[in-house]
Amino acid sequence: MEAKAKYSVLIVDDERSNLVVLNKLLSDEYTVLTAKSGEEALRRAEEDMPDLILLDIIMPGMNGFDVLTSLKESPYTKNIPVIIITGLNSEDDEERGFFLGAVDYITKPFKNAIVLARVKTHIKIVHQMHTIEMLGLMDPLTGVPNRRSFDNHIDIEWRKSIRAQSPISFLMMDLDKFKTYNDTYGHPQGDALLRAVANIFSSSARRPADLVARLGGEEFGVLLPNTSLESSLAIAENIRSQVESLRVPTVDGELTNTTISIGLASIIPQEESSFKEFISTADENLYKAKSTGRNRIYSGEPLI
Ligand code: GH3
Ligand code: MG
Ligand code: MG
Repeated sequence: MEAKAKYSVLIVDDERSNLVVLNKLLSDEYTVLTAKSGEEALRRAEEDMPDLILLDIIMPGMNGFDVLTSLKESPYTKNIPVIIITGLNSEDDEERGFFLGAVDYITKPFKNAIVLARVKTHIKIVHQMHTIEMLGLMDPLTGVPNRRSFDNHIDIEWRKSIRAQSPISFLMMDLDKFKTYNDTYGHPQGDALLRAVANIFSSSARRPADLVARLGGEEFGVLLPNTSLESSLAIAENIRSQVESLRVPTVDGELTNTTISIGLASIIPQEESSFKEFISTADENLYKAKSTGRNRIYSGEPLI
């Protein structure tokens, strides 16, 4: 499993002094994000997808209970665990917090060591959840994310690109004449080739937000957030040429080679843009790369 470098905690409190104390307490072990109001908290939660939220209740404007309700209503933030940390110390308030979906409740004034211990416990649960999810999201043959994983990821990256008005690019890739390869060298050899090309893809798309996925059979996708048409063309060409120069041993010790075709799409998505159309464009471009001779990249123009 790829370990996440540092888990992130969003601290929500309208009082600066509380933010400072909690930030100091947590920033050694976690990436700390802060929000001074409920509205800001919702925005940051959707944009930054923290692993855990520490939420104050009494705040001017939107109070913590309302924030919690909104977080739990959104499909994007509903799984982020929320620890309430508040001056409200009645059992009724605590019960309300749990009822709305908080995972823990800490009252102020708080003891630093206890806040730290509870945060640790919930981050550990997050880590275990990630591991479990990963098991269902990974293609066992190649070790890269599977289609389901890709579907989750593109949804998040697409929305980020719309907000940031940044380009996002996608390579739809399919091995050429792979059926012949399988028929000639056997299925296990075909499997070995799939592993080898998956390694090439992973080492070519290396930014943290890049995602290589096996979309099915001998078809792979590479999602490149914050990457222009020009840069993604360079990455595609790098992949194409590396696959072409790959020497794959066959059963009898001979070496053989293979090629790949790539359909590329690049866009700065708008509110009304659909990522399904974006993927279809890459798919159509892949078809064009195949029908015009294979072992090539077809990109068309950047989409508006
Ligand atoms: P094209 O250049 O048009 O893409 O031709 P192709 O032969 O690659 O395409 P086609 O879709 O006809 O064949 C895909 C082959 O991929 C057929 C299938 O047996 C093989 N395949 C799919 N999944 C696996 C796998 O997990 N392991 C192996 N060894 N082969 C697989
Ligand atoms: Mg193929
Ligand atoms: Mg195919």
